[in-house]
Amino acid sequence: MKTMPAAESKYPSTPIQFDSELIGKVTQQGPRYTSYPTADRFSANFQMGDYLQAVAQIKSGGARNPLSLYIHIPFCQSLCYYCGCNKIITKNHSKAETYLVYLKQEVDMQAALFAGMNRVEQLHFGGGTPTFLSDEEMGDLVKHLRKSFSFVSDAEGEFSIEIDPRTVDPARIHSLRAQGFNRISLGVQDFDPEVQKAVNRIQPEALTIRAIEAAREADFKSISIDLIYGLPKQTVMTMSTTLSKVIAADPDRISIYNYAHMPHLFKSQRLIADDEIPSAQAKLDMLSLCVRRLTDAGYVYIGMDHFAKPNDALAVAQRQGRLHRNFQGYSTHAGAEMVSCGVSAISAVGSTYSQNEKSLEHYYERIERGELPIARGLKLTNDDLLRRMVIQMLMCNFELSTKVFELAYPISFSTYFARELEKLREFEVDGLLSIDEDWLTVTPKGRFLVRNICMAFDRYLGMPNLIKLERMQYSRTI
Ligand code: SF4
Repeated sequence: MKTMPAAESKYPSTPIQFDSELIGKVTQQGPRYTSYPTADRFSANFQMGDYLQAVAQIKSGGARNPLSLYIHIPFCQSLCYYCGCNKIITKNHSKAETYLVYLKQEVDMQAALFAGMNRVEQLHFGGGTPTFLSDEEMGDLVKHLRKSFSFVSDAEGEFSIEIDPRTVDPARIHSLRAQGFNRISLGVQDFDPEVQKAVNRIQPEALTIRAIEAAREADFKSISIDLIYGLPKQTVMTMSTTLSKVIAADPDRISIYNYAHMPHLFKSQRLIADDEIPSAQAKLDMLSLCVRRLTDAGYVYIGMDHFAKPNDALAVAQRQGRLHRNFQGYSTHAGAEMVSCGVSAISAVGSTYSQNEKSLEHYYERIERGELPIARGLKLTNDDLLRRMVIQMLMCNFELSTKVFELAYPISFSTYFARELEKLREFEVDGLLSIDEDWLTVTPKGRFLVRNICMAFDRYLGMPNLIKLERMQYSRTI
């Protein structure tokens, strides 16, 4: 991705301001912008040849960008009812053995393509549950990756893994560190036993705390906890108790996701009783409480659902204007080519996005034919690239210097985005952002609604979906 010249920030460390009334008024359904255009715009017309062409273009352009590797492990031992991820629920471990045989072949194909430009600065294992793999399987896979690509040192690189504390013991966490992971993210969601029962994710508090302590002993550079608000049986009181426990556990990063109840899209959510889900007002109260408790405890609001300690790499990157957003959320490594392996995994290489086959059957078939298992994707147009940059800047920095933008791109910002600026005037009246000759600045109370502001720049919203010719359904922004 093209990088922007630096501009001195107008409000380098403006705090957030939680305005429930405004949020209630403005919030609506919208994308999370881990990519722009969003994944529902990918087309089956994009195939392996397009991906190969994108890699060839990178090569001919000097291949200066490092790589960010994403590895998808789709298996989980049991179903969490709220889950909307691409996962396969199974207790049959042999499925992982078979999967790894194919995954390594895909890694080999990608490694051959990127030979000579394969410096990996960032690695992320996501799922599903990466720790569904045994310690030996994980060690073997990491060894294979390190043989196939050239990894930067532990001090320079960000090598992260999502873990389910129910699947690991302290020894396993030490082993993950020894295998080269230096950042760890724990799925918690809520400490309350009743909430855990209602979503079929029984995870004793002691187990989670033991995993955090082990990660600290093992010297992970960043420990992150994922929570969800809006789950069945959650109340402001239960959330308050959970927050006290989370703050006491002292993680470096905390993500608090909004539970989007969309049973028409995600079958497992039909197992959640509608009348146990908190009301919109209760959800707002919970979010407000999270913001207050976490900022009082010294965490910085990064954006969307993320909080971090002021000395964590994410907060530092944000202060220095280096924060980036990709399929895993916020990241410190802007400008990397994202190469993703595994069923349903999405890559972002050059000016393209590409997604692998979503079913294991098709994924295996393609690899058996010696093909990269790409099922769909998108070549970004110049207009997509411009809008992607605007959305990135607003999501990561909460401000954009139109002058600097014009230095980087051959457009007049106010002419090119005249219609969008017109739409933003309404938000300006509501106090979500300010617009002057040189800057778009999201105000402290607009920061929670930055998704809504970005939606003004999304050319595809409201258009029929390219694949199913239906309107994509997004979750509410809060
Ligand atoms: S929430 Fe995580 S562990 Fe639970 S089913 Fe979804 S991917 Fe698996």
